[in-house]
Formats: sequence, C-alpha cells, structure tokens
Amino acid sequence: MKKIGFIGLGNMGGPMATNLVNAGWDVIGFDLLAEATKKAEQKGIQIAKDAASTVKNVDVLISMLPASKNVESLYLGEDGLLSKLDTSILIIDCSTIAPDTARKVANQAKVLGLSMIDAPVSGGVVGAQEATLTFIVGGATENVEKAKPLLENMGKNIFHAGDVGAGQVAKVCNNMLLAIHMCGTAEAIALGVKNGLDASVLSEIMRKSSGGNWSLEVYNPYPGVMDTAPASRNYEGGFLNKLMLKDLGLAKEASDSSNSETPMGDLARQLYQELIEQGLENLDFSSIQKKYLD
Ligand code: NAD
Repeated sequence: MKKIGFIGLGNMGGPMATNLVNAGWDVIGFDLLAEATKKAEQKGIQIAKDAASTVKNVDVLISMLPASKNVESLYLGEDGLLSKLDTSILIIDCSTIAPDTARKVANQAKVLGLSMIDAPVSGGVVGAQEATLTFIVGGATENVEKAKPLLENMGKNIFHAGDVGAGQVAKVCNNMLLAIHMCGTAEAIALGVKNGLDASVLSEIMRKSSGGNWSLEVYNPYPGVMDTAPASRNYEGGFLNKLMLKDLGLAKEASDSSNSETPMGDLARQLYQELIEQGLENLDFSSIQKKYLD
C-alpha cells in the first residue's frame, strides 16, 4: 500500500487526511498545533514528530497550509523540505496561495528532480468532511494522473487547469468572480426591497432572468429567502469573510504581477475589507448584504 505524508491537519487538512485513511491509505501527518494532531490521531492518522519525519518513506506528500508564506517556508525555507525529499515522491500542495509562490516552489522542485502539482480546493469544510471537494489542479499531465486516485478519495470533481500555478490562477479567478456577483446580488436585492418589492419575489424573477447567478440559485444573501443559505441563520458557518478577503488579496497580487485590470475585484476587496473592519470576519461572505439592510 502506498504511504501518504500529510502536513497541515487543520479545518480542511484534518478531514481530508481522515478520508484518505477511511479509503484505506496509510497516512502519517504533522501539524504545528497539538490540538490538530490530537484530533487527527483519533481518526487513525499516525503522527510524526516534525515535518522532516513525515516525509520518510512516503510515496506522496500533501500539504494543506494557511497561506503563501507557510508553503514557501515549509518547502524552501531554512531546513526546507524540498532538499530532504526522494525524487520518487509526488508533492501535492492543496493550500490556496499566490500563483507566483506556487510556481516558485514547483520550479525549484523541478530543479531538484522532484514532481509537484498545485491542487487548491473549493467546497469548504463540509466538502472536506464529506469528500465532495472540487480540486483545481495545475501541473504536468503525468503528475496529475498519478494524483487522481488520491484526490478522488477526497473530492468529487477534479479539473486540470494547466501547468504548475494554473490551479491557483483558476481558483483566484473563480473566487474573485464569486465575490463580485455576491456583492452585486446583495446590492440589487436591497435596491428592489427599498423600492417596495418582496425579496423572495425579486430573487425569483432575477434567478430566472438575465441576472441569474450562483448566489441567487443556491446561496441567496437576503435573510429568509432561502432556508438552507447562511443568510437564514444569521450568516453563521459557510465561507468566512476573512477567507474571502484573503482570496481577494491573492487576486490583487495576481492582477498586479500580470498587469491585469480588475476594477470590480478591487471594489469587492474594499467592501470585504470594510466588513472585516466592522468585526464581521467570522461571518459568511453573503453577509455583505448587511451593508444594505436597515
Ligand atoms: P487552518 O488554519 O484550519 O489549518 C491550517 C493548519 O496548518 C493549521 O492547523 C496550522 O497549525 C498548520 N500549519 C501551518 N504551518 C505549518 C507547518 N509549517 N507545518 C505543519 N503545520 C502547519 O486552515 P484551513 O481552513 O484548513 O485552510 C487551509 C487552506 O485551505 C488555506 O489555504 C485556505 O485558504 C484553504 N481553503 C479553506 C477553506 C475553508 O472553508 N476553510 C475552503 C477552501 C480552501
């Protein structure tokens, strides 16, 4: 049986590694937080004493870390992992990070004869728990094919976006668009309500008309319109404002480094920044609607 090393056993990594164990893989993991390793151990993941011990005798290494700086330091920092890996190991970084960082680490891996792909995910903690994540992958086709059996045990959709870094680019583009249409949807519903319309009636009209979009379809931001949406439970749970702001920051970095114009993305980032400044970082991102509720 193949052995998997898994670094970063937090809200996403913990359940992802658990799904691999449940599917029969031999998984050894590591996290800097004792709380995360304790939970993982209870789910059948062996715990290594540090990152370097996690990668001994493994066939695949998966990382699921908070941000670019964590990934860069794990792989390229002083005592970085890349210099310790056997060239037979496939590296899969599932963290959401800047495309430039993903390319920098993967290119250095290549120089050392190692294979690396970026595989950020969409689907949140529930998707990680239920193994229904969408993986958006960047890397050489042969490496993506090698990763598929593992990714299929943690998710249900796997998209190959292009070469290394392409997974991160696609993820950043998608989440920037998500923020933009959520902001626009909240604004449009509020405009209708302030002009005497019922939020549910207006939402249904727009959903079936040319304004139709994913927010109106499954994630209506107006309280009471959709029972299953975070708006109907005080915006609790879901995809947090602080994570959306992080992704909009990555979109800004990508637009700056490629000289792209993203005025709508910039405005969405400003609006989410304002929500964070109001102390709403731990509410779902559809709480942008709160800006327009009286
Ligand atoms: P998290 O903070 O719950 O988990 C990250 C874990 O990494 C933490 O437990 C931390 O201790 C550990 N860690 C950091 N540096 C480490 C190191 N050098 N060695 C070992 N462990 C280390 O975060 P999360 O919610 O699991 O998110 C992980 C990634 O997934 C992020 O990039 C995030 O943007 C992305 N993501 C999250 C969601 C979500 O809904 N939470 C959805 C999609 C994508």
